[in-house]
Amino acid sequence: MASVTIEKVVKRYGSLDVVHGIDVDIRDGEFVVLVGPSGCGKSTLLRMIAGLEEISGGTISIGDRVVNDLPPKSRDISMVFQNYALYPHMTVEENMAFSMTLAGASKEEKARKVREAAEILGLVPLLARKPKALSGGQRQRVAMGRSIVRNPQVFLFDEPLSNLDAKLRVQMRGEIKSLHRRLGTTMVYVTHDQIEAMTMADRIVVMQKGIIEQIGTPLELYDRPQNAFVAQFIGSPA
Ligand code: ADP
Ligand code: MG
Repeated sequence: MASVTIEKVVKRYGSLDVVHGIDVDIRDGEFVVLVGPSGCGKSTLLRMIAGLEEISGGTISIGDRVVNDLPPKSRDISMVFQNYALYPHMTVEENMAFSMTLAGASKEEKARKVREAAEILGLVPLLARKPKALSGGQRQRVAMGRSIVRNPQVFLFDEPLSNLDAKLRVQMRGEIKSLHRRLGTTMVYVTHDQIEAMTMADRIVVMQKGIIEQIGTPLELYDRPQNAFVAQFIGSPA
């Protein structure tokens, strides 16, 4: 597990400022949700933590390491995407083991780690299936399994549930939270859905137009919104 410290982080695309000097302290083992309207910079911030985007200013640390200049694979993070593209010609087991295959892990180690992750995610009966024989929720679980086998210090999620129907979305929220309880790993979760934020977060970071409007627990934001934007965003139904 590791903390994630974001200090005065800026992102510019050419002359366009999309993240304006943001500070967030994410604690070891915390489940933090970044929420805000489409285009406010959530994915950009997450991708900077992951190392998929260069930062234009400021510092990002994971644990006690400044990671600004480290490539994604050296950051001990794992990102779960909305488009959880699985390899169609591989089984669930092979999909989950693939990053370990690339890293040269032994057959035994791969089998053990895949088994552990599959047990956590309820995928044991599905290990021999191909992705096309899975439901949307099962595919999402395989995508999470691919992250778990890598033992990351920090999980990053970018709107992982937005392709699922409403019922499945509710179920998967619960599953991701129980994964968090089980692993205790720091998780940073991006959504534009305030219900998702309110039901899942230890703390919520409310963003708008590249700045942070407020950081707090769901109850703090609900009881004491700092401004009209937060009140409206948190209080209005989805
Ligand atoms: P969110 O995830 O909150 O919807 P993003 O982080 O994807 O928002 O985008 C924030 C802003 O940055 C948007 O205005 C978007 O158009 C802009 N943006 C994102 N990626 C790029 C890029 N590669 N080049 C230029 N502008 C970008
Ligand atoms: Mg986004």
